[in-house]
Parts: sequence; C-alpha cells; structure tokens
Amino acid sequence: MKYPQNILTDIKKHLNAEKDKIQTTLLSLKAQDPFSDPERLIDNAASDTEAKEESSHERMEALEKELRMHLKDIEQALDRVHKGSYGKCLNCGKMIDTDRLAVKPTALLCVHCERNKEK
Ligand SMILES: [Zn+2]
Repeated sequence: MKYPQNILTDIKKHLNAEKDKIQTTLLSLKAQDPFSDPERLIDNAASDTEAKEESSHERMEALEKELRMHLKDIEQALDRVHKGSYGKCLNCGKMIDTDRLAVKPTALLCVHCERNKEK
C-alpha cells in the first residue's frame, strides 16, 4: 500500500519548503555568530564582551545542532518519498496514520511502535 500521488506531492512540497527554511536559518546563524566575524580577532574587546560572545556562540551551536538534526530527518523523509516507502513504519511495516504525518511529516514509526519505543 502507498499514499496517493497527490498526497505525496504535497508532503514533498512541505518537506522541501521546510528544508529551505532550515538552510536559510543555518546560514543566518553563521552570519550572526561572533566567532565567524573576522574583525573580532583584531578587536580589543573588554573581557565581559568576550564572555557574552562565548555564551551566544554556545547557544548558536546548540541551535545549529538541533537544526541539522531536523534537516537530516527531512532529508530522510524525502528519500523515503522518492523510494516509495514514505509513511511505512520502519518497525512493523504498517502505514503510519495520516493524522500523525500531518503533525509530524518526518515520523518513521507508527504511533504504536513509537509508544513501545518510549517504554
Ligand atoms: Zn509500527
């Protein structure tokens, strides 16, 4: 069993839009990161500025990591759409509920298996 083509097209569109959004955010994060500012090296900043930069750098790294993980999920989902296995539970092989996919289009497991995994 497979999802109808029109649903898959919608999902693909949604996933691609999400992917673009994340990639744009990642780029803007890089631009905002004080550590990637070349002028920072020649700037004799006070030490409290230094500390502030340090913590914002860490925050951005955490955010970037999260975004990259999400990006990987999306790429995996797109790959599954491409291979025709999208929406199939990785564990039991049953079709994942469309309501669930509407909320979480990158879901790899059906509700049942996801719940079992959490236990
Ligand atoms: Zn399952």
